[in-house]
Amino acid sequence: MRTFLIETWGCQMNQHDSEHLEGQLRALGLSPAEAASSADLVLLNTCSVREKPVHKIVSRIGELEKLPEPPMIGVCGCVAQQEGEKLLARSSAVAFVLGPGQNGRLAEALRLVEQGRRPVLTGFDARQEYNFEQIFRISSTRGMITVVEGCNEFCTFCVVPYTRGREISRPMEGVLAEARHLVATGLKEVELLGQTINAYRCPETDADFAELLDRVAAVRGLERVRFITSHPRHFSDRLIDVLARHPKVSRYLHLPVQSGSDAVLRRMHRRYSREEYISLVERLRGSVPEVNLSTDIIVGFPGETESDFTRSLELLEQIRFGQVFAFAYSPRPRTPAALYGEQLPAEVVSERLQRLFSLTEQISVELNEAMVGSVVPVLIDGTSRRGESQWQGRGEDNRVINFPRSGAEQLGDIVQVRVDRAGPHSLVGEIVAEDPRHPTRDSRVEHAAS
Ligand code: SF4
Repeated sequence: MRTFLIETWGCQMNQHDSEHLEGQLRALGLSPAEAASSADLVLLNTCSVREKPVHKIVSRIGELEKLPEPPMIGVCGCVAQQEGEKLLARSSAVAFVLGPGQNGRLAEALRLVEQGRRPVLTGFDARQEYNFEQIFRISSTRGMITVVEGCNEFCTFCVVPYTRGREISRPMEGVLAEARHLVATGLKEVELLGQTINAYRCPETDADFAELLDRVAAVRGLERVRFITSHPRHFSDRLIDVLARHPKVSRYLHLPVQSGSDAVLRRMHRRYSREEYISLVERLRGSVPEVNLSTDIIVGFPGETESDFTRSLELLEQIRFGQVFAFAYSPRPRTPAALYGEQLPAEVVSERLQRLFSLTEQISVELNEAMVGSVVPVLIDGTSRRGESQWQGRGEDNRVINFPRSGAEQLGDIVQVRVDRAGPHSLVGEIVAEDPRHPTRDSRVEHAAS
């Protein structure tokens, strides 16, 4: 076996898991293939947060089986944990199943296959080896670091505590060592990952996430730190304080609210109220006025009435998120909400989603248009989809900005870009020398300090 391809579904955690898997395959001497048809091994790194992706994976296995020279298939990720042995029965082409809690055992799974077995490695093992030097980093500007695995919240709609297990925080010194390693390899930005990252507790020192973030942001040579995902009920004032005084910490914050109705929040087992969420946002904006908030909303949760849904729309209007990730409720195996009565008809959910999308798009455009004329520091992270002559980068608040290359800058540089136009999902601008009338936040901090 010489070549591999990894197909990844789902969130940043899965993308980062794919980097782990790729690192192990490269260490075994395998090289990436251009396409599944030329790969000896295809890993499907799967997501089961919604029902549709599971169907997609099953049909993808069918497509791979029908190739003239079918590759060996390994199913990884959340569907692997959820379905386990059943995946072997679905297709003889599935050679092994590797749950996300067993990612580090890919070489062992392949060895067992060589011995003629079809291993199913699932479950969660806190003692797994974590070799961050072996991770193959896809981006040359930004590196992801796992901080917390799993989740203890058990929201009634969510499958994550079953597919990724209970919360396990990594020791702070290990996270810091990985951040230093990434800087030493030339990366400018790190993204700290966890399903409930702000529930972090160092298993060795009991340090909380505010302390960890403070220490990571102080790593010499690091330009930016982002983190995802925060749970509103774990967002402490200490964490707000770290955001406020650390210019390197991203001004983008993903803070899932899920619903604007207290009745729905209770049935979701979110353990905060609408008012508590609003008060958190007010405290955040009081300390970090430029913060760009994004959120997740579930539409059509069992029993959601028109008045519950209206409360969600009102909340969106009140808070004005830069980005809203809205999803139709999808019943998931083992979750309590899947057994609730009052599942809503698909047409009701779809009509509500459309109303929500048009509101959130209008707000995003208005917020982006308010950026026109400002000059923002942009980390260049690739070529724009608009063509080779343009860069794509992100501002400190994670907004995507496309701008023409000037020829002097390169990938990974931070340049000053004046925003000239705005759309719902991105901005368009031009590189400028810093305009003293529009100082960037970094320089404002320096001026204030001097
Ligand atoms: S906090 Fe809730 S929604 Fe988020 S991963 Fe945990 S159980 Fe799922």
